[in-house]
Amino acid sequence: MTAKVAIVGRPNVGKSTLFNRLVGKRLAIVDDTPGVTRDRREGAAMLGDLEFTAVDTAGLEDSDVESMTGRMRLQTEAAVFEADAVLFVIDGRAGITPLDSHFANWLRKQKTPVILVANKCEGGAGKSGVGEAYALGLGDPLPVSAEHGEGMYDLAVALIEHI
Ligand code: GDP
Ligand code: MG
Repeated sequence: MTAKVAIVGRPNVGKSTLFNRLVGKRLAIVDDTPGVTRDRREGAAMLGDLEFTAVDTAGLEDSDVESMTGRMRLQTEAAVFEADAVLFVIDGRAGITPLDSHFANWLRKQKTPVILVANKCEGGAGKSGVGEAYALGLGDPLPVSAEHGEGMYDLAVALIEHI
């Protein structure tokens, strides 16, 4: 059994892009189980020498913030409860939104270790978002670019402590 790493965060921060980078073509399962797990995808991930099971959670198209947070929370809860570590992804360029803070508040109360990942930081972008992210109380944000593969070594170093 390899360790499970859940990728969570609000829609559009780049969770699936990060999942795809970690899993590449090794995507093993597309989980079509009805209900809260419907949109979860799991795959065998590799980061340097580190092997683990990555779990992607959905980005939702629901425009109703109330039901969106409700459903995201259910899905996030299920993924987080099963995980050995969580990658909580924010958009370093967009900065912290109320939805980010909402999930951060919940995540802080959970037992699963959380690594705060500031995505979209290629080429040193997203410095203001990274600065704001300290206020989430989840430790030092780790700037990465899922799309360009930047910060992946630092991500491996952060993960190796927990899995
Ligand atoms: P998700 O909803 O959190 O799964 O986000 P997606 O992975 O679907 O990505 C949302 C958008 O952000 C897409 O347009 C991606 O191309 C873009 N994106 C993802 N990662 C990066 C990144 O590292 N840098 C930039 N600039 N854009 C990114
Ligand atoms: Mg997605």
